[in-house]
Amino acid sequence: MRTVTMLGVPWDEQSSFMRGAAAAPAAIRAALRSPSSNLSAENGVELGVDLTLDDAGDVRIPAGNPAAAREAIAAAARDALSRGTPLLALGGDHAVTFPLVRACADRHGTLDILHFDAHPDLYDSFEGNRDSHACPFARIMESGCAARLVQVGVRTLNAPQRPQVRRFGVEQIEMRDWDGPPRLAFERPLYISLDLDVLDPAFAPGVSHHEPGGLSVREVLRTIQRCRGSVIAADVVELNPARDRDGVTAMAAAKFVKELAARMIGGA
Ligand code: MN
Ligand code: MN
Repeated sequence: MRTVTMLGVPWDEQSSFMRGAAAAPAAIRAALRSPSSNLSAENGVELGVDLTLDDAGDVRIPAGNPAAAREAIAAAARDALSRGTPLLALGGDHAVTFPLVRACADRHGTLDILHFDAHPDLYDSFEGNRDSHACPFARIMESGCAARLVQVGVRTLNAPQRPQVRRFGVEQIEMRDWDGPPRLAFERPLYISLDLDVLDPAFAPGVSHHEPGGLSVREVLRTIQRCRGSVIAADVVELNPARDRDGVTAMAAAKFVKELAARMIGGA
């Protein structure tokens, strides 16, 4: 039986609009346990039979100190990766991704990143804050932890972020150009970062930023299923349980966790 390590990252201090994502890891775990679904992934991998989703619990994160928080997240991720298994992190807002990626690059070398999001999250600084959840991919690309960044689902590209796209050579599949799930292929160890607001708010009301005109759950799944490459880690971020309706967004998050874990061990 193969193992994927799951790590909760309950940190939402860098959210610019609305807090609440810190409650996401618990909500996703509850949805994963819900008897309303089973533990089969679509590629035939059975959780509990072919795959153990080993829960390393939540990172203990010091409050009010972003640098210390990032260090705690990176340390917990390094510890989880030292088990030699793929890592699946449950956010938190998107600021959790920079320390997670750093830990993954320490272990696996320079990464490629597939990033699903309504937003590019490439601001150099947002409202005076370089640690904001609107900035993680600027910090990641500056760090050299990733050589290639492909963003899928973007529909909020604006003037401050356009030069950043060019500066970092970011490849974007914007929603205005959406033409069905793309066929992507990656050479380096692949990190998948899934901001749930990539989904249309009709599918995922439980996020802080409702941005209409997004993808369906199926289109995200199809993009992941079609993508070629070795997935060494992933995160599912920006679930805000306080905004959810009947837990549908938490169930979508749990579905992504299941499918990502199965993809990590079962190929495409
Ligand atoms: Mn984001
Ligand atoms: Mn977003």
